Amino acid sequence: MNFVSDFKQPEEIKPDSLWFMIHEQKIIVFSEADTASIPEYKILKGNNIIPEHIQYMGTYNEIPCYASEITAIQNLPQCFSLHPPLSLVNEIGVDLVRIAGLAGQYITWSRNHKFCGKCGKLTEDKKDERAKICTACGQVYYPRLSPAIIVAVTRDDRLLMGNSPRFPSKFYSVLAGFVEPGENLEECVKREVREEVGIEIKNIKYFGSQPWPFPDSLMIGFTAEYESGEINVDKNELTDAAWFARDEIPRIPPSISIARKLIDWFIEGK
Ligand SMILES: [Zn+2]
Repeated sequence: MNFVSDFKQPEEIKPDSLWFMIHEQKIIVFSEADTASIPEYKILKGNNIIPEHIQYMGTYNEIPCYASEITAIQNLPQCFSLHPPLSLVNEIGVDLVRIAGLAGQYITWSRNHKFCGKCGKLTEDKKDERAKICTACGQVYYPRLSPAIIVAVTRDDRLLMGNSPRFPSKFYSVLAGFVEPGENLEECVKREVREEVGIEIKNIKYFGSQPWPFPDSLMIGFTAEYESGEINVDKNELTDAAWFARDEIPRIPPSISIARKLIDWFIEGK
C-alpha cells in the first residue's frame, strides 16, 4: 500500500485531499451516480460540512489524507451515507478501507483522550509526534495498539478452524486472541489454542503480520502443528471448532484479512 504516515498537518488543505470522516465507527461516503468514494475537501466545502477532531494521517499516492469526526449527521446532504469500512472493499478498494479503519482508530483515540487520565485536565496534540499531552501535568498518551496472534494449526492434511459468536456472519476461521501482559508471542499462541480448543501444538513458525485497525489490533500470524489432545471447545469463546480438509472448507473470511491468507496458505498446500 502506497501510504506514508505523517502527523504534521500541511499548512494548506488541498482541494483534492481525502477526508475520512467517522461517525460511530462508520465511515461517511460520497455517492454520485453509481459510484461511491471517500470525499475530497472541495466536496466538503461545497456541502458546508465542518469536520471535528481532525487528525492528519499522511499521504496515499501523494494525496493528503485526514481523519475527522462528524458527531451530528442529521444535516448531512443525501449524497452522503454511512457504512462500516469493511463493507466497502468493492466500492473503494482494500487500501482505502485500511486507511478508513486507521481513521476510525485515530478518532476513537483522540476522542477518548480529550482529558488526562492521571489528573483530569485537558490534553492537546503533541507538536513533535503523534501523541496527546496533558496541558497541566505533561502526561503523554500514544494511540493504543492491541497485539493479537492468529494461528493456522494443521494436523496431517487438515486445518483447525472455529466459529465464533463474534463473527459478523456464520463463517469459520483460524484461531486468534489478544496477547496478555507478561507473555511472549509463542506463549500466547500456545495458550490461546489450549484455552479455546484444549489441544497442544508444536513447531510454531512466524507467518506474517497485518495492522487491523478495526478497532486497534496488530495481527501477528503463525503456523503450527498439532501435538496432542482432542478438540474440546470453550463455549465462551467459540460455538464450534473442527479439522477441515482442503476439499471441505466452509465459508471463510474475506481476502483482505491475514486470517484468509493463512487459510489460503493451507489450501495451496505450502
Ligand atoms: Zn494530567
